[in-house]
Amino acid sequence: MTADPVRSILIAGGGTAGWMAAAALSKLLAQHHCRITLVESDEIGTVGVGEATIPPIQLFNKLLGVDEREFVAATQGTFKLGIEFVGWRREGQRYFHPFGRYGDDFGPTAFHQHWLRARALGNTTPLDAWSLNHQAAYRDRFEIPTPQSPRVFSTFSWAYHFDASLYARYLRCLAEARGVERIEGWIADVVLRPGDGFVDHIILADGRTLAADLFLDCTGFRGLLTEALGTGYDDWTRWLPCDRALAVPCARTGDPEPFTRSTARTAGWQWRIPLQHRTGNGHVYCSGAISADEAAATLLANLAGAREGDPRLLRFTTGRRRKAWHRNVVALGLASGFLEPLESTSIHLIQTGISKLLSWFPDRHCDPRLADEYNRQADAEMEAIRDFLVLHYWANERDEPFWRQCAAMTIPDSLAAKVAMFRANGRLIERPHDLFHEASWLAVLLGQGVDPAAHDPLADTLAPQELAAVLAGMCQVIDQAAAAMPSHQAFIDRHCRAGARTAMPLAR
Ligand SMILES: Cc1cc2nc3c(=O)[nH]c(=O)nc-3n(C[C@H](O)[C@H](O)[C@H](O)COP(=O)(O)OP(=O)(O)OC[C@H]3O[C@@H](n4cnc5c(N)ncnc54)[C@H](O)[C@@H]3O)c2cc1C
Repeated sequence: MTADPVRSILIAGGGTAGWMAAAALSKLLAQHHCRITLVESDEIGTVGVGEATIPPIQLFNKLLGVDEREFVAATQGTFKLGIEFVGWRREGQRYFHPFGRYGDDFGPTAFHQHWLRARALGNTTPLDAWSLNHQAAYRDRFEIPTPQSPRVFSTFSWAYHFDASLYARYLRCLAEARGVERIEGWIADVVLRPGDGFVDHIILADGRTLAADLFLDCTGFRGLLTEALGTGYDDWTRWLPCDRALAVPCARTGDPEPFTRSTARTAGWQWRIPLQHRTGNGHVYCSGAISADEAAATLLANLAGAREGDPRLLRFTTGRRRKAWHRNVVALGLASGFLEPLESTSIHLIQTGISKLLSWFPDRHCDPRLADEYNRQADAEMEAIRDFLVLHYWANERDEPFWRQCAAMTIPDSLAAKVAMFRANGRLIERPHDLFHEASWLAVLLGQGVDPAAHDPLADTLAPQELAAVLAGMCQVIDQAAAAMPSHQAFIDRHCRAGARTAMPLAR
């Protein structure tokens, strides 16, 4: 039992980061008699984007006790089986980054090593044929496996698309039901304690002051509290050169596909995120290469349905805060840095930030060793994601100046080592803080044209006929499993159609 426990937490900001933190901490610190207050300004609003996720969000939902179908219905959500990349290697080419795994490991080496050997023996079937996620996605199929589902579903995985503002509202309901107090107000000043430089209190524009033992900076790109501590920022634009996004929703034109689409453009890329009530679109681009008008024209010329409003411009600098946790302030969400939305990793980083905070939870004195370890882990996580994102930009064969410049960049040594190993023998180096594992790296390496010259010699142990039979058998099982799923839309209609279920959650 610590003598001087944290008795009050102030969360500054009520976007996705603020409300995720409020919902999680109010549940997990329920026995700690710790007051949690969230202050946000409706006048300032939230960034309003951030609608695609990756599978670990399921763990966050479980932690909160969220009913998956209720959550999807309440947020106008759909299911996401992966990301389709269009034109990233070169114009006209496309590939799919599936969640879940390719095939099932057998024999002494990884599945893809057997596939590489089969390919060397003349088998022309693409690796995609062994991904249940890929097979389901391109047939617009989806279902949530049950304990009775065939074993092949152990290779299947999914995440969600949702309306960002409905997601924040959903989390707010959970948090307020668990005792979080919300204060409407504009933070005008951050006051530091003389002596140790901890944040003592914040002052709102109407003069109210709010003090706490621990502060979570969830104020988005502004990073108000973190800036007050002057921790500095690592700028990664030399590797991730996009610095603007224009976002605009459009009307739905058909059934929502169970995947995000990312289409390369002249100096960036365009996203398409299908929701139940509309489709989210955005153009992420490099302002040094094209103007905002050109970027807007490209975005609007490539919408599937009628636009709903005018494109909204967002400015950012890719990179991270030097210290996400400093003194008694922990920055979460955009306040802690932003890598860009290409692989939908920001909401995930909020989630891991919360779980790291709980692992290293301080007392009122905030031992700097806790912050150091938190920051060390956060840095490693971000660097691993950065490398994965950089791969998409660097390994391209496109012909525009922006893309040629990307292809000519000096990539981080950690990424160069991974690429060199894969090129030589198809092996994938995994590091402890890697968020993306074998299947993700395989999809993007092969999709971007990084091809191994050889395979693991341990894959040579099977006789060619035996290898062919095992691969064909797996392929058939996957094909049948995908074909037997209901359509994505039918699944939504049956289980989680917006409006057909309780609109907002009950705290469990
Ligand atoms: C173009 C783009 C696309 C993205 N796409 C994805 C995606 O697909 N998937 C994904 O995981 N992530 C995505 N992200 C990131 C994602 O949007 C954010 O991680 C997420 O929304 C969390 O934002 P936030 O809560 O940190 O900030 P915000 O949403 O900006 O919230 C900040 C909060 O702080 C409050 N605030 C700020 N200043 C003050 C003040 N002075 N006084 C009082 N309150 C204040 C605001 O009112 C607001 O409540 C994307 C980001 C961008 C820019």
